[in-house]
Amino acid sequence: MFKKILIANRGEIACRVIKTARKMGVKCVAVYSTADRRALHVRLADESVCIGEAKSSESYLRGDVIIKAALTCGAEAIHPGYGFLSENAEFERACAAAGLVFIGPSADSISAMGLKDCAKDIMRKAGVPVVPGYQGEQQDDNFLAEKAQEIGYPVLIKAVAGGGGKGMRLVEHASDFIESLATCRRESSAAFANDHLLIEKYLIQPRHIEVQIFGDRQGNVLHLFERDCSLQRRHQKVVEEAPAPNISDDFRNAICGAAVRAAQAIDYYGAGTVEFIVQGDTFYFMEMNTRLQVEHPVTEMITGQDLVEWQLRVACGEALPLAQDDISINGHAFESRLYAEDPARDFMPQTGRVHHFSYPQQSQYMRVDTGIEAGDSVSVHYDPMVAKLASWGEDRTSAALNMAELLRCTYMSGLPSNQEFVASVFDHNVFLDAVIDTGFIARYEQDLIPETYAKAAETEIALAALFYLLGLGIQSSAVNPWNAHDNWRMGASALLRNLSLVNKGEVIAVMATCHGESLEVEGIGQVKLLSYHDGVLKALIDDVEVSAVVLSYKQGITVFSNGRVVDLHVFTPELDGDTLDANGGRIVAPMPGSIVQVMVEVESVVGKGQPLLVMDSMKVETTIPANFDGVVKGVYIAPGDQVQEGTLLIEIAQEEGENDAA
Ligand code: ADP
Repeated sequence: MFKKILIANRGEIACRVIKTARKMGVKCVAVYSTADRRALHVRLADESVCIGEAKSSESYLRGDVIIKAALTCGAEAIHPGYGFLSENAEFERACAAAGLVFIGPSADSISAMGLKDCAKDIMRKAGVPVVPGYQGEQQDDNFLAEKAQEIGYPVLIKAVAGGGGKGMRLVEHASDFIESLATCRRESSAAFANDHLLIEKYLIQPRHIEVQIFGDRQGNVLHLFERDCSLQRRHQKVVEEAPAPNISDDFRNAICGAAVRAAQAIDYYGAGTVEFIVQGDTFYFMEMNTRLQVEHPVTEMITGQDLVEWQLRVACGEALPLAQDDISINGHAFESRLYAEDPARDFMPQTGRVHHFSYPQQSQYMRVDTGIEAGDSVSVHYDPMVAKLASWGEDRTSAALNMAELLRCTYMSGLPSNQEFVASVFDHNVFLDAVIDTGFIARYEQDLIPETYAKAAETEIALAALFYLLGLGIQSSAVNPWNAHDNWRMGASALLRNLSLVNKGEVIAVMATCHGESLEVEGIGQVKLLSYHDGVLKALIDDVEVSAVVLSYKQGITVFSNGRVVDLHVFTPELDGDTLDANGGRIVAPMPGSIVQVMVEVESVVGKGQPLLVMDSMKVETTIPANFDGVVKGVYIAPGDQVQEGTLLIEIAQEEGENDAA
């Protein structure tokens, strides 16, 4: 076995690799950008080396600098994780040239699967079914339009170099084809420096089922069964599970067999995933990812294997530790991706400090893979995934119950996340009945993100009133009622108190009469404190006992109860004045990024919530809406512009004569 390896990655996957390496007695060298100086993967590693500036292109993508670091530290091998250099054939060759082992497949395997068109060709020749379509050299508009006609609408245009759900466009009618082609070509060359496209039949309500395969240098290839990753939002995975529900043994054997054939066709060794799109009983090859996949934990949980250990063994030249017949499925597992993003605002990525982050202890039933601890920050430079939550159960139902429990017992404050959104997936009957396809999230968005999403209801308002008016968070909270400039004192006889809370950009006026540890909250009722220990707040609301975790951060609190996550803070004019001022129609960039599309022009009449522009930042496209009804007075950006956080993008003025919306 290696004595020391370097991990050319960051975040949860770097931490994940360190965990197995440590178990195997292998020392780890972490690399980090200046933005990650104090990151968890650096803290966990035995040694660490700074490889450059925050931007990935100046650090995590600098193969030359990383190889030099490995040589300097005496590492024998490099684990690339996923993303960054993991599917870069040149990097594999450079490692080999420097005498380092790349913990992954050969450069030739990477190249063979690197572009979707070549990959489909190889697979078709190997007898693996591929999605009907055109994936040839000819890129002429009219020729491709003819092909689309032959394939039959709807069709999907895909960038051959695309990834991460980007560079893809659905075309439903022939009349839109040429225009979509142009857009896709433009996006593809901007994002992937390659404007080649392929055309594919667009399958209606398909499932995404992928197979984990593994090969060694002795020529053995086997599979570790499949994962269902149909729960996607805009073609990006949100919840994954293994095994795929509702498939027959015959289907499983067929799809897993096809994946093994696919790997054999390119003399594959190391960990890989063959992705299929499935409609009814028919599966088609989509692409192969020549690396460890984000969602590998669900496979580990149902097979009892450590895939990173397998990777290290295979990279060392050892044969696969098991034969196909030794591997079986035990129970069911789910993974949920926890992102710092705000589902109520079109999933806008969020950056900043995580004040509190805790979750249940790891067991056979629950597992959390993360790259952060409380006090760490989510940086604008990398993707906003905070953690992967995984659960296991004897069957799908118990695994889902365990995930619901894991989500209920995971507490993150300081940044909005998709936790409540994911919790509502595990509360959805259609999902629990395993009726899933890639359109599930879009179809049930109203259920998953209801009007009330993250909006404070009576219970949360009552608990917040207790928290602030009784000074429960006095040690940690910046808002200290003892400093309030009025004559309120704790324990004094009945006193009327006004409290202005802010939740989701709206002010909630709370009027309460305090009697010791009881409040009479107007419109809500009698609220009595029972206890507040270690963040758990228990109270009686009109004699009904409620319990919630209430964590304070900066000037706010987060209330967690029954899968709901609600942020509240006390109104402060300096902080909230602008956002709540109806005349503040200045739309500024919430984070650095580039402008993808602008939907309005000067003099456009816009309504509250209407999309104004689309920004791309942290690898995610975000639509920015108007914050009230009005007329566009200025558009200061155009597609392609790079903007900094706080850059003025668009100005809206309220229409004259209108009533004050505030
Ligand atoms: P990427 O490499 O960007 O992840 P993929 O080719 O893996 O792109 O596709 C991502 C997702 O897009 C799939 O999981 C599926 O939901 C959807 N998709 C891809 N191809 C098709 C198709 N032919 N018909 C319907 N949906 C598709």
